[in-house]
Amino acid sequence: MKKIITLLCCWYSISASGITLKGLPIWEKDHPIVSTDWLISKTTAKSAIYQTEDGKLVFSNGITARTFTLFPNGATVGLELLNTNESFIRSVRPEAEVELGSLKFKVGGLLGQPIHNYLLPEWLSKMTTDPYAFQLADYTISDVKARFPLKKRSTWMAKDLPWPLPGKELIFRYQLNDQAIALWQEKIHSKEHLDYLKSVVVEIHYELYDGMPVFSKWIKVLNDSKQEIRVSKFKSEILAVHEGENAVDAKKKWDLPNITVESDYNFGGMSNESLFNSSIAWNLDTLYKTQVSYELKTPCLLEAYPKYGPNQSVKPGSSFESFRIWELVHHSLDHENKSLEHRRMLRSLAPWSTENPILMHVRGSKDEEVIKAIDQCAEVGFEMVIMTFGSGFEVEDQSPENLERMKKLADYAHSKGIALGGYSLLASRSVGEGNDVVMPKGMSPTFGNSPCIESQWGIDYFNKLYNFYTKTGLDILEHDGSYPGDICIATNHPGHTGVDDSQWNQHARIAQFYQWCREKGIYLNVPDYYFLSGSNKTGMGYRETNWSLPRAQQEIIERQNIYDGTWDKAPSMGWMFVPLVQYHGGGEEATIEPLKDHLPHYTQRLANLFGAGVQACYRGPQLYDSPETQAVVAKWVAFYKKHRTVLDGDIIHIRRPDGRDYDAILHVDPAGVEKGLLMIYNPLNEPITRTLSIPIYYTGLNNKASIKEQEGTSKDVLITRDYKINLTVKIPAKGYQYFTFR
Ligand SMILES: [Zn+2]
Repeated sequence: MKKIITLLCCWYSISASGITLKGLPIWEKDHPIVSTDWLISKTTAKSAIYQTEDGKLVFSNGITARTFTLFPNGATVGLELLNTNESFIRSVRPEAEVELGSLKFKVGGLLGQPIHNYLLPEWLSKMTTDPYAFQLADYTISDVKARFPLKKRSTWMAKDLPWPLPGKELIFRYQLNDQAIALWQEKIHSKEHLDYLKSVVVEIHYELYDGMPVFSKWIKVLNDSKQEIRVSKFKSEILAVHEGENAVDAKKKWDLPNITVESDYNFGGMSNESLFNSSIAWNLDTLYKTQVSYELKTPCLLEAYPKYGPNQSVKPGSSFESFRIWELVHHSLDHENKSLEHRRMLRSLAPWSTENPILMHVRGSKDEEVIKAIDQCAEVGFEMVIMTFGSGFEVEDQSPENLERMKKLADYAHSKGIALGGYSLLASRSVGEGNDVVMPKGMSPTFGNSPCIESQWGIDYFNKLYNFYTKTGLDILEHDGSYPGDICIATNHPGHTGVDDSQWNQHARIAQFYQWCREKGIYLNVPDYYFLSGSNKTGMGYRETNWSLPRAQQEIIERQNIYDGTWDKAPSMGWMFVPLVQYHGGGEEATIEPLKDHLPHYTQRLANLFGAGVQACYRGPQLYDSPETQAVVAKWVAFYKKHRTVLDGDIIHIRRPDGRDYDAILHVDPAGVEKGLLMIYNPLNEPITRTLSIPIYYTGLNNKASIKEQEGTSKDVLITRDYKINLTVKIPAKGYQYFTFR
């Protein structure tokens, strides 16, 4: 069937009587409310804009709604979850701030709100526009566009997720009027003519996706004047929301408002907590004098801005674009529910993070070592070989011999259906000759040392990566120590002018490269939270030296790491590690080689990892050393591939591993055929029988479930009123058990 895409792309312009809302459906009578849980049922409601009877504009998908006033200036005046009728906004603020040179402009917003504890619609008509601010000129709406091209590696994905996400983009355009220019002219006491600022446009971009309560926001500054302008600083979001908690006394740790924020300007850690150092802040609200906190210390003002700069020059006819943020509004404080919504959002925003190739870390990069690994992987169903750290793989060696040898290996791997690539170290090393980051006095690089990405060395390094991957056709880069956010005060590095643009420019170069990788389908293992910039996987959360502990201890810690790491990541988003040969130390006790001599342990590791849908770096010269070992590896790969869709779904946390009793996780996939897979492990030395009450709400099953023990026959089980299944399970000593639900 021919797909008809409707693009509504005309600007709704301002006239003497105001901005046209004519033709938009009426909010009060036309909008849908989605009453089902978006985590378990697909909704047919679409993102759209509406007009209210009193002339406001509403952007809604039936789950959430953001309301904008258009007069006397544009501003966000509402953010709601429709099903629970929960309102998040308590005060009107500007839509954004931009500092052009040294002049700090507000974009939109209203003045005169009497108190900031809550916002009444009837106050709006008495509030005024800030005469110095950018004024709303017009708006437009269109379909969401892809942030960058994406080549999906569908064989590694359990599901074909859409890109771009279905939804709508709403853009508001703001400009300075004559009155504002005259006021600013008066304010600066300078002969400099500010008329050119009338030709600067600030666009406020929103996206709202179908089927989830997530808004995206970013800004764009367009320079249509005849002179260069400089975006010194910006705030792309200022949202005064209801407090997460109120307390009279000072607190060290406050409960934040129930909104999870993500940003594609994020670095310096493996979790999204790091974005508080890069782009997001829950700030104090200095206007909010009537709050309960005696010292006015409640963090209830969400702001998005880079902590340094960006200090970017914008030439006539060109534009500057901020980073993007995504705001997920929650209806519940329940840990599993909130984290599940967060995981679902990430998977949708970064579908490449669901690519989950089964991979091996080969210890050497000599031809015969790599070929053996490729052959073994192909034999048992592995999908990727990575020439690991210390293997001799060298991406910076641009010699024709190296490029040619790597191309031959890549071609060989591809002929066997295997993806091939290797490891490169970026941050945490010193390259010298004036190319390292120079940090302000009293600060030091995150990893002790780091090259400046905008030094000549850094620019050359990235050019080498482009060249290497283009020429060799390799499929994977393990990029160790991504850009961690180090600023640089050097003024002689070609890619930045000083400290203020150093972070912005360094991040831009690496993000650009990661996005190029997405276009080419080059997989990125990056031990940092770079998902929204284009990376595929990060560490599940591990301590390297744990892989030198005795084998039995590794079994429990491995499951703990997975249990804990999957609160904020889908299984496909985190890698684990299996030291087939000795890693940091630990000798024979810690090592699995010779594999055939430690088959029960190797089996348990495979059951732990494949049972969790988590890929590990199996590091060594070989995956198997006997027909028996090969059979065990092949069995678990087959298990994973048979149940891949549900195993790559979300994990519901049942009982955390502690070595003292069973531990369990439940995989759920409400849209799939297999809606649940319960994996239970017994760390004890004797077989156990337990009657468990399994919460199966997130499988989407109702009333009755069809349960199968391992690959046996199915039986029907009733679901209790609180969405639980009572199940008596027998688990062998030091063993595992699993059930599938349909
Ligand atoms: Zn520098």
